[in-house]
Amino acid sequence: MHPITKIKSEVLQGGQALVDKGLVAGTWGNISVRIPETKWVAVTPSGKRYHEITVDDIVVVDAVGTIVEGQFKPSSELPLHLAIYQARTDIQAIVHTHSVFASACAVAHKSIPPIIEDLVQLTGGSVDVAAYALPGTELLAQNIVKTLGNKNAVLMANHGVVGCGQTLDEAMLACELVEKAAQIYIYANQIGGAQLLTNGDIDVMHKFYVEYYSKRQQGRTV
Ligand code: 13P
Ligand code: ZN
Repeated sequence: MHPITKIKSEVLQGGQALVDKGLVAGTWGNISVRIPETKWVAVTPSGKRYHEITVDDIVVVDAVGTIVEGQFKPSSELPLHLAIYQARTDIQAIVHTHSVFASACAVAHKSIPPIIEDLVQLTGGSVDVAAYALPGTELLAQNIVKTLGNKNAVLMANHGVVGCGQTLDEAMLACELVEKAAQIYIYANQIGGAQLLTNGDIDVMHKFYVEYYSKRQQGRTV
């Protein structure tokens, strides 16, 4: 299979997984993956049901969003995807979801504090809320880049989640772990509140994830 077709196929399967995992309803959410050795990005088309499109319907755009391949419009959140890729050369894939518990935190404008092992391993700390801006706007893209900093996940006020990674699997995992941590945080608040992990322990766990655990997840023996 041609390398670009392989990445488009990964993006399509990721989109279908968003619906299957209950991270979005209908056509919402979006996914992109960088195409190595180019400045191009493969991205889901806007407003299409992931189970009703084919690999050929995944759009390829250049670094400024001009369509290189595909018949449909790229995701309306393309500005935020491109802004993150521009700010973070380490990030290879981005997933945007509308999952329920994370969105509850996002509408309450409450960060998810560092409370649970798997999330802090991946993000290295809290998942903070980027200031509100209308969907698809350049302002939303700027707000997200600013709040994301050097982390892998961010909440979007009154909207949802953005998860990033060195692979699509990792970006998807970031969104799933944010959703799980948001659910735990909300439940913990019903029984007296969540206790925070210490900065020292967070640093140890994040370093372990970056140096070893994420590599094991990618199939390496370290
Ligand atoms: P698209 O269908 O254009 O990707 O938009 C969905 C969405 O979640 C907007 O924030
Ligand atoms: Zn959205």
